[in-house]
Amino acid sequence: MIAELKQAGKEYRAGDQTIVALQPTTLQLHEGELLLIIGPSGSGKTTLLSLLGCVIYPSYGDLWVDGQHVNKLNERALAKLRLNSIGFVFQNFNLLAPLTAEANVMMPLQLQGVSQSEARDRTEKALQTVGMTDRRKNLPSQLSGGQQQRIAIARALVTNPKLVLCDEPTASLDKDSINIVMQELRTLADNGKSVAVVTHDPRLKPFAHRIVEVDNGAVKEVSGFNE
Ligand code: ADP
Ligand code: MG
Repeated sequence: MIAELKQAGKEYRAGDQTIVALQPTTLQLHEGELLLIIGPSGSGKTTLLSLLGCVIYPSYGDLWVDGQHVNKLNERALAKLRLNSIGFVFQNFNLLAPLTAEANVMMPLQLQGVSQSEARDRTEKALQTVGMTDRRKNLPSQLSGGQQQRIAIARALVTNPKLVLCDEPTASLDKDSINIVMQELRTLADNGKSVAVVTHDPRLKPFAHRIVEVDNGAVKEVSGFNE
């Protein structure tokens, strides 16, 4: 098991109002599994992913990620856990426009202080994994949406994180690119990573090992393994 929520959730206070973004949730993420988190806009999907990604603390309940009790970590330890154990993929790719594909992928390794020669090797491997070595010298603006997302996946992978978290990764893509990107993520899970994908798009369901639905802050398991 790579991550576990035990009755964990999140609420936000605005004046005298309390918004329950995520009700108390119990959920486990496992290696070798693509978990699809599906639900309508505003249902709490990003909140759930942000908890798993150690971006926010739970308001209640307990959270463990990669063996660490997140509730008890300070901001600094949390940032370290994010950098070393988690890879993030977002809807809008979040690539840095002035940098080549290759330089974007290499960035997390530079943050980790990995040597230049090792960083080059690992960047090469990550680009191979997503089939993008021939585009390494391109700027993001010279790539299609699907190709940019594959570069973003390579960047998420280059640190060899146990957990890959994707927030609406296909929302800006056409149908063909959706299939390529989801197959890429599925293959990562089949090869041992824990991959969680947030979406409102039911077309992604066939790529999942496991599916949970989020509705109005409540998480419900809807299917078991589908291999
Ligand atoms: P989804 O990703 O499914 O669209 P979110 O997790 O972003 O949903 O949001 C769930 C609910 O929590 C929404 O009602 C949203 O407005 C609220 N919410 C999310 N983040 C914040 C925040 N930082 N402050 C106040 N309310 C928030
Ligand atoms: Mg969201």
